[in-house]
Amino acid sequence: MPSSTQRSVPDADDAHYMRLALREAQRARRENEVPVGAVIVRNGRLLARAHNRPIHLHDPTAHAEILALRRVARKLGNYRLNECTLYVTIEPCVMCAGAIVHARLKRVVFGAADRKGGGAGSVLSVLGHPSLNRRLDVRSGVLEKDCAELLAGFFRAKRSQH
Ligand SMILES: [Zn+2]
Repeated sequence: MPSSTQRSVPDADDAHYMRLALREAQRARRENEVPVGAVIVRNGRLLARAHNRPIHLHDPTAHAEILALRRVARKLGNYRLNECTLYVTIEPCVMCAGAIVHARLKRVVFGAADRKGGGAGSVLSVLGHPSLNRRLDVRSGVLEKDCAELLAGFFRAKRSQH
């Protein structure tokens, strides 16, 4: 089942939603937050968009994914988001990967890997861990260059300021 579900989502749709997530990441950059953006979609309907905001919200958990998950859960009146797909520009960190497992998402699509903190295989394999995820499809590498470059450019600019 997982592989047929995955194939039923056209690449063009994944790229389209990743572009929306990228737009959110650009918002984060404008606010001087680490540029990561996320959107959540269910049955072709956009349910939430969010970007990183830990600095502005004084909240270490205010990652794009967590904010998007909270918005959708509130909107649906349900803490389980079974039919939802999360698009995020950078591989979810370990905290967000844990939240994704709790939310029972159907699918996660991310752009670029995070070699320093990724929870979908780069550092730890929270997403895709056989005892945690029953039916979660994970796809990576959608608009990978754009997602990675936005993040790298942000840190380059930061370094040159000091
Ligand atoms: Zn995170």
